[in-house]
Amino acid sequence: MIDLHCHILPGIDDGAPTVEVSIKMAQKAVSEGIHTIVATPHHQNGTYINEKSDILQRVEELNERLIQEHIPLTILPGQETRIYGEMVQDYQNGKILTLNATNKYVFVEFPSSQVPRFTERLLYDIQAEGLTPIIVHPERNSRLIEDPDILYNLVNKGAMTQVTASSLTGRFGKKIKKFSMDLIHANLTHVIASDAHNILRRSFHMQEANDLISTEYGMDILYLFQENAAAIVNGHACLKDSPEKIQKKKFLGIF
Ligand code: FE
Repeated sequence: MIDLHCHILPGIDDGAPTVEVSIKMAQKAVSEGIHTIVATPHHQNGTYINEKSDILQRVEELNERLIQEHIPLTILPGQETRIYGEMVQDYQNGKILTLNATNKYVFVEFPSSQVPRFTERLLYDIQAEGLTPIIVHPERNSRLIEDPDILYNLVNKGAMTQVTASSLTGRFGKKIKKFSMDLIHANLTHVIASDAHNILRRSFHMQEANDLISTEYGMDILYLFQENAAAIVNGHACLKDSPEKIQKKKFLGIF
């Protein structure tokens, strides 16, 4: 299994604080059947700056350590970039790292409770650069929960999305779990990843999420998500079903 979103690199964001914790995360990942992790440290989120060249070097160092420890896990380079106005210029200037450095897919994170006004334009500009933006954990954005048509519009215009495994398993509460499942139903997400930060409160839960997906939606959807994860690290095209709008339930008064 491939995990596309993980804060496993030590000491550079709110993920693993030390390489010892990175090793523990690696062991946990392997125990869940994960063989490849894309390391995606936060970038430009107001607290952390992690530019391409630095991430590439740190990924190499962690891979060397994993070989020494005989852990059968490969780390690939990536970045979780908070949406900001100069993102395209910074990509051109070599500061933004695409997933596995293929110059095909780039993670885009929204602030947790809003979708900036310039989002549609920026996602367009990113695509004009030849990149596919992947919106990370849309299910945890309160603006999108309130108005899912915003996400429908962005997906309809070519953006992809990644839902977090532990959102599906209920780690963030019932509302986020329900919205995650609605996103799968409406073809508004294309891949599942862990966004693991540690092995305690923010662990992988990939196996548990996969069990839930195969039970609720069937193996076809599970395979689709796994094939998309492989396509993304290889820089190939993903399979996408046409997005649909999420029907908001109308509450009829029973008071
Ligand atoms: Fe993350």
